Amino acid sequence: MRYTTLIFDLDHTLFDFDASVDAAFAATLSHAGVDQPNGHREAFAAINLGLWKQVERGELTPDQVGTLRFEHLIHRFGIDADPHAMAADYIAGLGAGGDLYPGARDLLDELLPDATLALLSNGIGEVARAKITRLDLDRYFDAIVVSGEVGVAKPHGAIFDIVFERLGHPDKATTLMIGDSLTSDIRGGIDYGIDTCWYAPGAPADASSGATYRVARLEEIPAVVAGR
Ligand SMILES: [Mg+2]
Repeated sequence: MRYTTLIFDLDHTLFDFDASVDAAFAATLSHAGVDQPNGHREAFAAINLGLWKQVERGELTPDQVGTLRFEHLIHRFGIDADPHAMAADYIAGLGAGGDLYPGARDLLDELLPDATLALLSNGIGEVARAKITRLDLDRYFDAIVVSGEVGVAKPHGAIFDIVFERLGHPDKATTLMIGDSLTSDIRGGIDYGIDTCWYAPGAPADASSGATYRVARLEEIPAVVAGR
């Protein structure tokens, strides 16, 4: 095996995050009395993206994002609701719904006998833990590190330090970071001095990433790991 330690991102890499967001957001709006959403979902996506970029820059903590995104949404659309209640509703919904991408569990099952796996997620602890438990992911990973629980996020080296510490300091030369985000997963891996595999199912063919490898399908990852 070319790589014997694999660090996986969760959302948009193994987990179908968009489907879980759609369901949780629709339920949250409905509970807040917004029965005919009109641009709310798109606006929420943009608000989220901006706030998580601020987390990557160290300007916000992941847990601050939980309520702030609904404060922004309420302000933007003049919704008469409590942002804390909406945030709690949404977080409960996010943890309760959604599934792995087709093929993701098969991938983990295939890799597990030959490699040590870690999960490294930028997200809210409560949401990540609910998904991990519900989807029985604990059994695959020797370390599960969620930014909201440790107070530091990808791409910062401090969160990779925590992963390496929990794994007993594996060799960086045989460790691979696998994820969809260039700014958190790939940037973080490069800066930490490990090889990276960019999971980019929809990216343009000429998109430059700096990643060591690029795959469009999860099924391609075992060949990368094996060095074939
Ligand atoms: Mg991701």
